[in-house]
Amino acid sequence: MQGLMQGKRGVILGVANNRSIAWGIAKACQAAGAELAFTYQGDALKKRVEPLAAEVGALVLGHCDVTDAATIDAAFDALKEKWGKIDFVVHAIAYGEQLDGRYVDTTAENFSKSMLISCYSLTALAQRAEKLMTDGGSILTLSYYGAEKWMPRYNVMGVAKAALEASVRYLAADLGEKAIRVNAISAGPIKTLAFAGISDSRLLLKYNEINAPLRRNVTIEEVGDSAVYFLSDMSRGVTGEIHHVDSGYNVLGMGRPETSGA
Ligand code: NAD
Repeated sequence: MQGLMQGKRGVILGVANNRSIAWGIAKACQAAGAELAFTYQGDALKKRVEPLAAEVGALVLGHCDVTDAATIDAAFDALKEKWGKIDFVVHAIAYGEQLDGRYVDTTAENFSKSMLISCYSLTALAQRAEKLMTDGGSILTLSYYGAEKWMPRYNVMGVAKAALEASVRYLAADLGEKAIRVNAISAGPIKTLAFAGISDSRLLLKYNEINAPLRRNVTIEEVGDSAVYFLSDMSRGVTGEIHHVDSGYNVLGMGRPETSGA
């Protein structure tokens, strides 16, 4: 894929450490020739993100918390100052509480916060990106199958991801006339910081591994390679799409009988 993203510059939000999906995407984009910029959320992540940025030669724009519009503006102001225009944005951000128990017990506070961070933030980024994507561009977000079907331990995140996937379609329709494309990768479960916070995460990984058509889980490198397709001109005719990178799990109606233990 060398050269596929030569001459393209973009920002990746959501690198927390070297297990983040955003890091898999960053490595693939850098290998394809892109120039990158990162943000980090808070000082605790700064010391993890800075060495990773150095590894792929990425600019570090500073702290950006999507609940604080001023920090989003500061990141895009810095991009404008450094590069003038950008070609792509990766949104790999999510947050949800009360993932155990029942969805019906979700509080209004948790619902609003999860929606703001996991869903609205894509729109907030698109508003800023539109101004800098003067030659068109590509915006990519990350979703999960819990947007489409009930999945255990996903609760409010499933509802936020469903709204995120709807946002992809609405943003694609609005921004298409400026040649700005908006797509999502719906990734299979991967052991990242966010995923490890879900109880029964090991069981979820195992279930996916034994039932998915490919009989294994996906990696951040595989999501990264698919991201290069969406962020490069290879996908120039594609927008509003939700693309599964999940070893095929989404095509199943139920687990294979021989793995059910029944
Ligand atoms: P991760 O923990 O590595 O990354 C999550 C990121 O979200 C972190 O960098 C964190 O700083 C950021 N974040 C959270 N709240 C924020 C806020 N208020 N402002 C700015 N940043 C904030 O985990 P990950 O699994 O790589 O998650 C990346 C994306 O991939 C998420 O959207 C997640 O839902 C999605 N996803 C993950 C999986 C999986 O199994 N890991 C599967 C499908 C989709």
